[in-house]
Amino acid sequence: MQTMYQTMNDVELAAAIDDLEARVAEVKARELKLDMARGKPSPEQVAISRPMLDLLSADSDLTDGGVDCSNYGCFEGIPSARALAGEFLGVDPSQTLVLGSSSLLIEHDSVAMCWLKGTCGHAPWSEFSAAHDGARVKFLCPAPGYDRHFGITEDLGIENVPVRMTENGPDMDEVERLVAADEGIKGIWCVPKYSNPTGDTYSDETVRRLTSMKTAAPDFRIFWDNAYCVHDLYDEGDELLNVFDAAREAGNEDRVIAFASTSKITFPGAGVGFVAASPVVIKEIAHHLQAGLISADKLNQLRHVRFLPDLDAVRAHMRRHAEFMRPRFECVDAKLHEGLDGTGCATWTHPRGGYFVSFDGPEGSAKRVGALCREMGVTLTPAGATWPYGEDPHDTNIRIAPSYPSVEDLSSALEVLVLAVKLVSAQLALEERA
Ligand code: PMP
Repeated sequence: MQTMYQTMNDVELAAAIDDLEARVAEVKARELKLDMARGKPSPEQVAISRPMLDLLSADSDLTDGGVDCSNYGCFEGIPSARALAGEFLGVDPSQTLVLGSSSLLIEHDSVAMCWLKGTCGHAPWSEFSAAHDGARVKFLCPAPGYDRHFGITEDLGIENVPVRMTENGPDMDEVERLVAADEGIKGIWCVPKYSNPTGDTYSDETVRRLTSMKTAAPDFRIFWDNAYCVHDLYDEGDELLNVFDAAREAGNEDRVIAFASTSKITFPGAGVGFVAASPVVIKEIAHHLQAGLISADKLNQLRHVRFLPDLDAVRAHMRRHAEFMRPRFECVDAKLHEGLDGTGCATWTHPRGGYFVSFDGPEGSAKRVGALCREMGVTLTPAGATWPYGEDPHDTNIRIAPSYPSVEDLSSALEVLVLAVKLVSAQLALEERA
């Protein structure tokens, strides 16, 4: 697709660049300081969970289902919290562990377990290379995707292989082709609902294909990070098929390890993290983690289940979160339409939940747009971060994180982004002619 700048004659293009540069100079003079870099809720949004902090005091009953939460014990998590985790992730509570405050750390430790010890009786992933003439262990990384996922596998020396993310989840033709042919491909990172950053939800067909596909690796694992499973913006949320049911039907129950947390429900970094897997795999994960943990913070678990006793309570709480998020997402969409409709310079996603909007500008624009926004006082997630190794092959993608700034600041930040996209698009059109 051509941008409007590519269709201009030389005189028009030079005039457009002059005009855009003058507007950039004006914005710089305003000395803005706006941050759209990471998916953090705004302080007002976080504050709706403060009443939870009053639920435990010196006089409180600190037991849950007979478990004393004020002492060591009950490594697997308190009964009410496991019941809630089971509802979140669509499994029997016995197939869950409720641990500390971070799901990302459990993801890290689960990959590390497979790397160090192997899973379901298979050799450790770390030994694969030596046994296969130096072939590397690889992970499929739907891209654009979540940079911290890619960081976990990169840190272990696993090769991250990008696969195209579509509106229905990863490009399954590509995924099936790759996993069938290469025994070194041991896993895939998935954010199946309101994916980070596209906001798209995997279709039923994608879930079925992922759980039933033939993999050359017998110990292939789907890392199913359902971080945004209850983060609907509207009453009618996206529906995601139960991955464990699909895996069981396909006879691949051990393939899925699922995660979630309350980081973006109560307090980011001070919530409760969960993991779920088949009976065999959850036992392995428990055994692995128990080497380094006597029991997690059960008082925090207790506080959480007293505040949010079941999924209905979580959904009611999330409707209040949506009141903060909806105007922000709607502001992003309105500002992008207002500034970029008809320019041919960009496309972006229209999520119905989650924390991000994924934006694509012309080829070769994203890094320059990020740098120009920074000069104008707006910080974006670094361009490229949504791709393994920070390498966006076409340099188009920008992750917009609208949750933290006020709607007013967001509106200003989006105007800056629009201006930067236009100037960079115009400059690219000029450079093409040189
Ligand atoms: N997974 C995804 C997809 C996320 O977007 C985030 C937070 N941005 C996390 C995990 C981190 O969650 P936690 O705080 O539970 O470690």
